[in-house]
Amino acid sequence: LQQNHTPASHLKLCVCVRKRPIFKKEETNGEIDSVSVSNPQIRVLAPKFKVDGITKYVENYDFTFDNSFNENEETQDVYKYSLRPLLDHIMNQGVITCFAYGQTGSGKTFTMKGLQNQYVTDMYKLSTHQNYSSMNLKFYISFFEIYGGRCYDLLNNKNQLVILEDKNGFVQIQNIVEKQAMSAEEMIQLIEYGHNIRTTHATASNDTSSRSHAICQIMLRNDKEKQVGKLVLVDLAGSERAQDCQSNNRQRRMEGAEINKSLLALKECIRAMDTGASHVPFRASKLTLVLRDSFQSKSDKSKIVMIACISPGSSSSDHTVNTLRYADRLK
Ligand code: ADP
Ligand code: MG
Repeated sequence: LQQNHTPASHLKLCVCVRKRPIFKKEETNGEIDSVSVSNPQIRVLAPKFKVDGITKYVENYDFTFDNSFNENEETQDVYKYSLRPLLDHIMNQGVITCFAYGQTGSGKTFTMKGLQNQYVTDMYKLSTHQNYSSMNLKFYISFFEIYGGRCYDLLNNKNQLVILEDKNGFVQIQNIVEKQAMSAEEMIQLIEYGHNIRTTHATASNDTSSRSHAICQIMLRNDKEKQVGKLVLVDLAGSERAQDCQSNNRQRRMEGAEINKSLLALKECIRAMDTGASHVPFRASKLTLVLRDSFQSKSDKSKIVMIACISPGSSSSDHTVNTLRYADRLK
């Protein structure tokens, strides 16, 4: 645990980076590790331009974040820094939204699954603690994905969901399934189920999970069914997919444009929320619309944790620099 950095619990917005280990297979293919982490700094070695496919110039790109995790650190280390200090905040009406951003294969889903499991285990434990046991807390989950601007329920056979904004400005997801889980084990099973539904129908050539945003909400309610707090975990579409808006394939192009739009809208909403702006442009995309609660700029209720996931391989260095630039601009 990094003691020398501002703890995530003090920040309205916390931006971290996680570098995954290089795979044996990548090394065998001649990839070298182009990322060095010296927390909180991070340096990427990227080709500046190539001549006839041969790299002629290499440049360093340096960034600094609230915390930069190297390839030897485990999800538990990320959890201890980012989410664990916020558990009491959730118990007190807080809305924590944690995003995993990055190119496909950079470790977004791996990180999200690990964080989910640790959070659920700790939260059930905490709810029986003397400070909270009298609240008789109940845990609920909903899990859906946004694909091509449409929403599908991952806990209900990918049933298509309709998003409505009522006259008081509340965003409602009609008919979304919310399951109550009586134990941490049951909750973890439901999360696992949702992740599996997301990937079962996908094939290598048509991996829809890299082109969809997955949103898992874990709500806490008291015995009067009033919401106490919630954690929202968002496993974003592969950031490289935003470039599909230049694809020759019409379907891909439209999906790419949608992803591009939503990631840009997300950046604007996070910035507006962090700076306390009076206007948050959450209507600019489906993703930001359904996450409206996460961007409350005028109270301390909402907090955001952004985890930018990066692949170390030299062939990914352009994407890695793009990911770090996106994360850097949130601040
Ligand atoms: P993404 O969701 O960003 O496409 P994944 O989470 O599926 O990427 O990760 C790609 C692969 O890398 C998976 O096989 C995953 O298990 C592995 N992986 C990712 N991060 C780590 C890590 N920190 N340590 C070990 N393996 C990892
Ligand atoms: Mg994934």
